[in-house]
Amino acid sequence: MYDIIIIGGGPAGLTSAIYAKEANKSTLVLEKMGTGGQLNNIFTITNYPGFDGIEGFELATKMKNQALIKGAEFKNEQVIDVDFSSRIKKVFTSSGVYEAKNIIIATGAHARELGVEQEKEFYGKGISYCATCDGNFFKDKVVAVVGGGNSSIYDCLYLSNLVKKIYLIHRREEFKASAGGVSRVQTIEKSGKIELKLNAVVSKLMGDDKLKEIELTNTKTGKKERLQVDGVFVAVGRIPDTDVFEGKLNLTKDGFIQTKENMETSVSGVYAVGDVREKVLRQVITACADGAVAVSSIVNKD
Ligand code: NAP
Repeated sequence: MYDIIIIGGGPAGLTSAIYAKEANKSTLVLEKMGTGGQLNNIFTITNYPGFDGIEGFELATKMKNQALIKGAEFKNEQVIDVDFSSRIKKVFTSSGVYEAKNIIIATGAHARELGVEQEKEFYGKGISYCATCDGNFFKDKVVAVVGGGNSSIYDCLYLSNLVKKIYLIHRREEFKASAGGVSRVQTIEKSGKIELKLNAVVSKLMGDDKLKEIELTNTKTGKKERLQVDGVFVAVGRIPDTDVFEGKLNLTKDGFIQTKENMETSVSGVYAVGDVREKVLRQVITACADGAVAVSSIVNKD
């Protein structure tokens, strides 16, 4: 039995582990895949205090090492079920069952799909959800980036050093992304390397064994346009990884976990941190801060 089981090894989970060990709590971190979560999809983070610029993978590795040095235990196991009905909580994985007095959910989120026909067929054959993972396959090629949030803007900035041309396709005129990033994209736009396609959505994907062309539909006029592209990077937001917790905690209609200010969920002793919870700003720093708050709430309760 552990004092704290942390589900998820992204920045929110890793910070929770660091704080939990600093508070001398026995701590198990269950990770589905490798450490780092979405941090691994970020090429350079420029707004994390203390670093002018650091690769996401490097930051994740530093966080994990810090947690390991302090004595947190890590297991590479996927959580398939949970039982939060008693004071002692149970977490089931494909390898067994673990018990803890407190649970911190840090399962994060995954990429939202465009919802266009043949999107799955073209996945890995032109469609990508991770510019930093797949950008290298599109050196000197023509690509589209879809979305209007920070991810799409940072994807454009990253890809602009690799590809020949980028069409940035956004369904509205105003960007959701921060002004600084948008103005950097607008500067590159002047060189012709980035072309904005606003008030447009991708309505069709075309090709044979690989994606070759996309159809855009103007959201105001309904007018169609075709673009020849080698790849499409989809950056239209994220879906929380909360399937396992459905019916066991209060979730929003979009599936994010509702928490109090101290990160406690609707179930006493169960906390949620990072991108998986309902919040206003999903950034590495806010994920880390959530972890610190959750552990401090546990410590203050004990
Ligand atoms: P996001 O902020 O939710 O933006 C998603 C974008 O996709 C929105 O512009 C939305 O359009 C558009 N969209 C949603 N569904 C669509 C669809 N079916 N078809 C076409 N467009 C669609 O998501 P995100 O950009 O992934 O960012 C997630 C969080 O991570 C944000 O809090 C962001 O600030 C943060 N982030 C930070 C950094 C950084 O600071 N370095 C980098 C990346 C991400 P509408 O605008 O019309 O809703």
